[in-house]
Amino acid sequence: MEEKEAEICDLTTFKMSGKAKIIKPHDILQFEELILYFLESKRDFKIIGSGSNTVIRSGLETPFVLTSSLSNFKFDEKYVVAENGVKLSVLLSEAIKRGMTGLEFSIGIPGTIGGALYMNTGAFDEEISKCVESVEVIDENKDVYELKAKDLDFSYRHSIFHQKHMWIKKCVLKLEFAQKKEVFEKSLRNWLRKKSTQPVTFPSVGCVFKNPNGDYAARLIDLADLKGYRVGGIEVSKLHAGFFINVGGATFEDFKAVYSEVVTRVKGKFGVDLEPEITIVS
Ligand SMILES: Cc1cc2nc3c(=O)[nH]c(=O)nc-3n(C[C@H](O)[C@H](O)[C@H](O)COP(=O)(O)OP(=O)(O)OC[C@H]3O[C@@H](n4cnc5c(N)ncnc54)[C@H](O)[C@@H]3O)c2cc1C
Repeated sequence: MEEKEAEICDLTTFKMSGKAKIIKPHDILQFEELILYFLESKRDFKIIGSGSNTVIRSGLETPFVLTSSLSNFKFDEKYVVAENGVKLSVLLSEAIKRGMTGLEFSIGIPGTIGGALYMNTGAFDEEISKCVESVEVIDENKDVYELKAKDLDFSYRHSIFHQKHMWIKKCVLKLEFAQKKEVFEKSLRNWLRKKSTQPVTFPSVGCVFKNPNGDYAARLIDLADLKGYRVGGIEVSKLHAGFFINVGGATFEDFKAVYSEVVTRVKGKFGVDLEPEITIVS
């Protein structure tokens, strides 16, 4: 498989400028072979799905393994088997068509199931973990096996994949049957709420920071007078202070400058250490 150079704006939803190295496996077997190759040759690599939760510095040596071709999935009664590159939006629209409930929270989240499992993505008080039956993984010893949901150490925006060198190949989700109309209406209600509270029309990577215990990162950033704070092409959203948006021509340096200012001001004003929700590859 050939390593190529790509524009970062084509790899992440932040659409920042810069270059990165990529490799794109065509199917799940090639994906597994590629990871085994990197492990055997002790080369560093990083997986990227939709890049909707990832910020990348330009010019890194580390190649990104793209999962966009790993898009096979199958619904079988209550179960869905999905390769790691399947988009959440595809799974949700299929679930709506079939009258299956469980994924309505994910409307408007532009990621893959691989990224969602890594992040334990969630919204409206629900998380992907509640739909997970099992995940097939490849670990750093080159072993491939299945882990049950209870072994995945899911918590708020956290999974076992944050602490173990382990990569997601496929998963099995379990949904429940419901009235089609109810599944559709719940998804629509969620979408209307999301679109009125989040800057969904600007390039972003969603909420940059995790909510600190018992509080909201966006509330603290807002109270620190940072809504609309801008360096170069990155601005703290005026609609939702947890989002940074690319207002045009943003670079990694712009992102770092805004990020540092937000962390410093929130710490100075409230004594709270904000932690990133996103993956920053630098
Ligand atoms: C407009 C907007 C709204 C959003 N709203 C929400 C929201 O409501 N709730 C929420 O939780 N998030 C939200 N997000 C963030 C993001 O969409 C989710 O976290 C999403 O699930 C990430 O998926 P991805 O494929 O884009 O992950 P990526 O950004 O590609 O990757 C994220 C992390 O997962 C790892 N990863 C990806 N695939 C694999 C794999 N196969 N094996 C191991 N590791 C892997 C990557 O290496 C990286 O560390 C939003 C983002 C945007 C832009």
